[in-house]
Amino acid sequence: MTTVTQCLRRAEELVESDSARLDVEVLLTHVFNVDRAWLYSWSDRVLDAAQLEQFEALFQRRLNGEPVAYITGEKEFWSLPLAVNFSTLIPRPDTELLIEHALVLPLPENARVLDLGTGTGAIALALASEKPNWQITAVDVSPEAVALAACNARNLEASNVRVLQSDWFGALRGEVFDLILSNPPYISENDEHLNQGDVRFEPATALVSAKQGYADLEKIIEDSGLYLNAGGWLVVEHGFQQGEKITALMRDNGFVEVSLHQDLGGNDRASMGRKNGY
Ligand code: GLN
Repeated sequence: MTTVTQCLRRAEELVESDSARLDVEVLLTHVFNVDRAWLYSWSDRVLDAAQLEQFEALFQRRLNGEPVAYITGEKEFWSLPLAVNFSTLIPRPDTELLIEHALVLPLPENARVLDLGTGTGAIALALASEKPNWQITAVDVSPEAVALAACNARNLEASNVRVLQSDWFGALRGEVFDLILSNPPYISENDEHLNQGDVRFEPATALVSAKQGYADLEKIIEDSGLYLNAGGWLVVEHGFQQGEKITALMRDNGFVEVSLHQDLGGNDRASMGRKNGY
């Protein structure tokens, strides 16, 4: 007989995880289809044979290093439950920084907004949940990501989000927006961080960019001017050591009111600027 408490104790086997206890809690909530509080009210509950088998299978995957979000197929972002799969990056709490900043920008009531490289749709759907009047376009180059983001949009009934396949601005010629956001790939291909933890399981296309991680950010900053209304805003996530170059690049490309912002860990993580000429 194996109880919830006994399962929770197995957290000690997850020596490589820095969130071992939470990992096991989340796996158990998935097995029982309950919330975490339930685990504490029912800690003596015995797992039946099917539940035990399922828990063991999920736990083994975690022991192999697979991210919890891929194992459960779900990750919360901005309090929204999002489906995730191997085709996209797992949404990070740090990316909520972009949402916080975007929500307080001076923008029209019916702002036209673009999320470049949407992945699960996290940025677009978080904004849609807060601003039902915004008209939001979410694009991704990967057809699997487009399908996933569209599925998340349907599940969340985000009728003001349209999801398109597009290689950055490729499918958007002639369109203009009031706000463009992106969490593009920005890790250098020889960064040792790529061999550690959750990122080992995430698609390299969502993580790695040429030119020491700058190629995609450069393209986005250089091309955004064409797709922004005068006075429109560009908000991008970037690496913790990239802030100085990214803000300089924004200024070189004619952006004004450029600012750099820190994530929850106090690291430079996002930059934004405004298209001149308003
Ligand atoms: N912030 C992520 C990490 O360091 C990378 C996200 C990205 O490349 N856009 O794991």
